[in-house]
Amino acid sequence: MNSIDPLTGLLDRFGCLQTADRFTAASTHQPFAAIWVDLDRFKRINESFGHPGGDEVIKDLALRFRNRISGRAEIARMGGDEFVFLVPRCDRSAAEQLARELASTVGELIHIGNLTLCPTASIGIAIHDMEENSLALLERADRAMYAAKDKGGDGIVCSGDEPIPGRLGITLAREEISIESTLHAALETGGLCLHYQPIILANGEIEAVEALMRCQVDGENLSPGKFIPVAEKTGLIVRLGEWSLLQGAMQARLLQDAGYHTKVAINVSRAQLVSPKFTQALHAALICSNVKPELVELELTESLFMDISDTVQANLKNALSAGVSLSIDDFGTGYSCLANLKDIPAKKLKLDRAFVTVLPEDRRALAVVRAMTQLGHELGMTVVAEGCERQEEIDALLDAGVDAIQGFFYARPMPEDKLFQWLQTRNTK
Ligand code: C2E
Ligand code: MG
Ligand code: MG
Repeated sequence: MNSIDPLTGLLDRFGCLQTADRFTAASTHQPFAAIWVDLDRFKRINESFGHPGGDEVIKDLALRFRNRISGRAEIARMGGDEFVFLVPRCDRSAAEQLARELASTVGELIHIGNLTLCPTASIGIAIHDMEENSLALLERADRAMYAAKDKGGDGIVCSGDEPIPGRLGITLAREEISIESTLHAALETGGLCLHYQPIILANGEIEAVEALMRCQVDGENLSPGKFIPVAEKTGLIVRLGEWSLLQGAMQARLLQDAGYHTKVAINVSRAQLVSPKFTQALHAALICSNVKPELVELELTESLFMDISDTVQANLKNALSAGVSLSIDDFGTGYSCLANLKDIPAKKLKLDRAFVTVLPEDRRALAVVRAMTQLGHELGMTVVAEGCERQEEIDALLDAGVDAIQGFFYARPMPEDKLFQWLQTRNTK
C-alpha cells in the first residue's frame, strides 16, 4: 500500500519513491516525467499566519492540484510546501505544458481570513532516462526546481537546462532519502531503541533519566543529529515520537516496579504537539504502561513557545491534567521571547550545552547562566545544565546555582540493561 501524507491525503515522500520505482520499472518503452513544485516565500506565509495558516494553504493547494490534474499524474507532497507530480507517458513538451498549468493553479488567489495571497512557485522538470533509477530522476527534478528558484522563483526549468550544480546539494538530497527509508525500515523491523542518560542533583540523587532515541538498521547506527531533522522534515517524527512516548513510559514503569522513583524525560517535537492527536497518544502511552504519570516528563524545545497555537495549548493543558510534568529543553538557544516563559507551565529549565562548554573561563557566559538560573528559580523551576563533560564546568555551574547536571562526566546515554546496572552501583533506591 502507498504511504500517504496525513495533511493532504496525497502520497508522501516514501509513497512518491515507491510510485516512481513502479513507473521506472514500467517505463522501458515510454518515458515519464517528474515535476517538482515548490512554493516561493512559503516561509513568510508560515511566519505571518503561523503553522495552522500554512497548513490551510497547503491543504487548499493540494485540493486544487487534485481537481486540476485528476487522473493525469500521481501527486505527492514531499514535506513542507513541496509537491511532486509523476506523469506517465510524458515527453518534455507535454511536461512543460503541464508545468504551466500547475503554475497557473498555484497562482489562483488564496484567502486567509480577510487577507488575499497571490502565491507563485518554482518548478523543476525531469524526463526519465532509461538508464537511471527513480532516486536519480527525483534528484534531477529537485535540482531543476532549485535552478528555477535561483533565477528568482516564479518559473519553470527543465533538467539539463540548469547550470551544473555543486555536488554537495545532490549528496545531501540522496542522504536524506536514504535516511528516510532507513527510518521506515527501523519502524517496521524494530531497529529503534531508547538510551537513557541520568540527570543528577547537586546532592547526588538521580533527578530523572532522559530518553534519547537510537536507530540501528543492518548493523549501521544513525545518530539523532542526522535522523531527527529528516524525520521532522518528512513528518515521520510523529510516528517516531509516539513510539518514543510509549517506550519511555514503559521504561518509567519498569523503573517504578524495580523500586526506583526516577522520572523518565521524553523528547517531544513541535510536529507532535501541533497535532490534535497528541493527547490521545499520550493517554495511550500512560494507559498501556500503567505508570504513575508523575514519573513521566515531556521535554519541549524552547522554539515551540514562539507561537503557541490553541492546539498546542490544549495539548499542554491535557498533559498537565494527566499528571505528567513539562520541561523546557535547550534553553537559551531558541528565539523565544522571555515574556512567554511566564506562561509556560514547565517545572524544569534545561540550559543548553552551548553555555556549558565555555565554562569556567567565559565570564560573560557565566553571568548569563547565573541570570537564567535565577529566572528559572523565580518561576519555580528546577534548573539543569546539559552536556557537562568536565569537573570545572560542573563546579562553575553549581556555584551559579544550577540544581542538576546531565553530561558525559557522570554518564553517557546507555541502553536499558546498562541503566539498571548503573543505578544498582549507585544504590539509589
Ligand atoms: P537533547 O534533547 O538536547 O539531548 C541531549 C543531547 O546531548 C543528547 O544527544 C546527548 O547524548 C547529548 N549529550 C549529553 N551529555 C553530553 C556531553 O557531556 N557532551 C556531549 N557532547 N553531548 C552530550 P543525542 O542523543 O545525540 O540527541 C540529540 C538530540 O536529538 C536531542 O537533544 C533531541 O533534541 C533529539 N532527540 C533524541 N531523541 C529524541 C526523541 O525521542 N524524540 C525527539 N523529538 N527528539 C529526540
Ligand atoms: Mg532533550
Ligand atoms: Mg537539550
